[in-house]
Amino acid sequence: MSIIAFIGLGNMGSGMAANLVSAGHDVRAFDLSAKAMEATEKTGCLKCGSAGEAVRGADAVLTMLPAGDHVAAVYETDVFDAAGKDAVLIDCSTIDVATARDVASAAAERGLAMVDAPVSGGIAAATGGTLTFMVGGPAPAFEKAEPLLAAMGKAVIHAGDAGAGQAAKICNNMLLGATMAATAETLVMAQKLGLDPQTFYDIASVSSGQSWSLTSYCPLPGVGPESPADRRYEGGFAAALMLKDLRLALEAARTADASVPMGALAGQLYQLLVNGGQGGRDFSSVIEMLGAETAS
Ligand code: NAD
Repeated sequence: MSIIAFIGLGNMGSGMAANLVSAGHDVRAFDLSAKAMEATEKTGCLKCGSAGEAVRGADAVLTMLPAGDHVAAVYETDVFDAAGKDAVLIDCSTIDVATARDVASAAAERGLAMVDAPVSGGIAAATGGTLTFMVGGPAPAFEKAEPLLAAMGKAVIHAGDAGAGQAAKICNNMLLGATMAATAETLVMAQKLGLDPQTFYDIASVSSGQSWSLTSYCPLPGVGPESPADRRYEGGFAAALMLKDLRLALEAARTADASVPMGALAGQLYQLLVNGGQGGRDFSSVIEMLGAETAS
């Protein structure tokens, strides 16, 4: 049993913290939102009045915050000074690679072990304990973090040094954004060419056009296994979050001098979707913008 400080108990963090409690850990929680704190207390976490209070005496510090600015501020202001020298610091937020590396190097300067450990999987995976963690940081820090992450996920993979978890996450999501857009426009074209969508699905899913976006998360309702398309694109992975990840990917590509024309196009498509007021719907709803008849 470990004492764990958990900062950021929103859509994702609340389920993750509850799974740590279920695994027998003593979880001390802090969020700026009073509503989030009340919900968290019901799952067995101990409410703390500040991030520093949660961190003092903890064996591990977990953060699940919106973006890089929040992460940098929370670690500088609240975590570094309060963390014990043997504590492991684990940031699970999805943030830019540069900030992840800056925060990790500030931790290293203070002799603190830190990893970036962003996740794949949405709110259902956070609640169900089936997230995939992509972890960046030195091996000793990874070894300390791994058993805690395993209590919240189905896979924990060491991607490399500091920032490598964030790099893997945005590369994965850029691939997902581009394959979903390509899958969506192809399904619309198949419809317009008079193909039965289910028949085309049956063909492509055993042919070279197969992808996760097609066979696990088909954007067309009534085709393939159940997905957000069958729930009018509610729940799932919000288009606004896909846009956030694509922006992070494009910024990282710029700094790494990588050519990512498909990622850039996907970014423009999701920007249009979000500008059209669809940011809260699942990202596979891009198929409607591309002209699919979905009756939603
Ligand atoms: P959220 O907005 O629901 O939760 C973030 C929480 O952080 C909020 O409750 C907010 O009050 C709290 N917070 C902000 N600043 C704080 C501070 N200084 N101190 C304490 N608490 C603070 O967001 P979410 O959906 O839980 O996402 C969290 C992270 O996980 C993001 O980086 C997101 O990109 C990533 N992510 C989300 C999903 C998803 O499906 N929601 C999937 C994968 C990754």
